[in-house]
Amino acid sequence: MQLIKTVKEIQAISDKLRAEGKKIGFVPTMGYLHEGHASLVVRAKELADIAIVSIFVNPTQFGPTEDYAKYPRDLNKDLLACEAAGADYVFAPEDKEMYPGGFNTEVSIKGVSDKFEGSFRPIHFNGVATVVTKLFLAVKPHIAVFGQKDYQQTLVVKQAVRDMLMDVAIEVAPTVREADGLAKSSRNTYLSAEERILAITLYKALNSARQIISSGAKNRQAINDAMSEVINNSGAFKIDYASSALFDDLSEPEEFKSGQEIVCLIAAYLGKTRLIDNCLITIP
Ligand code: AMP
Repeated sequence: MQLIKTVKEIQAISDKLRAEGKKIGFVPTMGYLHEGHASLVVRAKELADIAIVSIFVNPTQFGPTEDYAKYPRDLNKDLLACEAAGADYVFAPEDKEMYPGGFNTEVSIKGVSDKFEGSFRPIHFNGVATVVTKLFLAVKPHIAVFGQKDYQQTLVVKQAVRDMLMDVAIEVAPTVREADGLAKSSRNTYLSAEERILAITLYKALNSARQIISSGAKNRQAINDAMSEVINNSGAFKIDYASSALFDDLSEPEEFKSGQEIVCLIAAYLGKTRLIDNCLITIP
């Protein structure tokens, strides 16, 4: 496995691999890797000949009061994790490599980025779409693998790829969870021991949505209320949103219909840590 720091080098490597007829699979990450990230690398290797992982804590997707400065970083540990998962190259550029002085262009997404995460993190998805576009131009992958953990992000990336005619197939891989159900996340390291125990509340809230849907609920507000109730009963969270929507365009009808696939999405603060989770459910 090779560590690459510059755009020029990774572009040259991709050009060579493409000329050799190799299929390139790409996993963009912000590092501090866990088994969720590793599962994406494994999936990339299943779908392609070569797996390239990027590690870059992207400043433009963090709001001014968010955790960019304290976001956990450990490149040496990440390199070992990438190698163990089967990565062939790690692209880990410095900030100025990705955003040289005078940088002044943004990929701005409307529609699917407006609600849920977008309404609480107003600049977030433009930062994501911009950096993903730049990473795609640097790495030149045939396919890129993203986690369902960041569900709305997968829709935003698909929208950007479609709208900007990017020749990259987008694959979404399932959320990897801890034994108790908590979605693995680099931000889980922020949690105190007591918070770590309470953190599974979000998973329990998603399960309560599953439960009332399987017993016949189709009303969107009732489904949302079932999730909020579980979270509020724990007395530990401040909810940003606990919502359900159609899985493909995030539209919010009053009543869901049998056969429709929906996504339940939660974002909430546990102390200072903001956690997100989601699940897909088909209305019976
Ligand atoms: P991040 O480093 O948090 O930006 O995440 C990089 C990629 O890993 C994104 O596509 C995430 O959706 C994905 N990811 C993060 N956590 C998990 C998880 N628990 N299971 C699967 N994929 C994940």
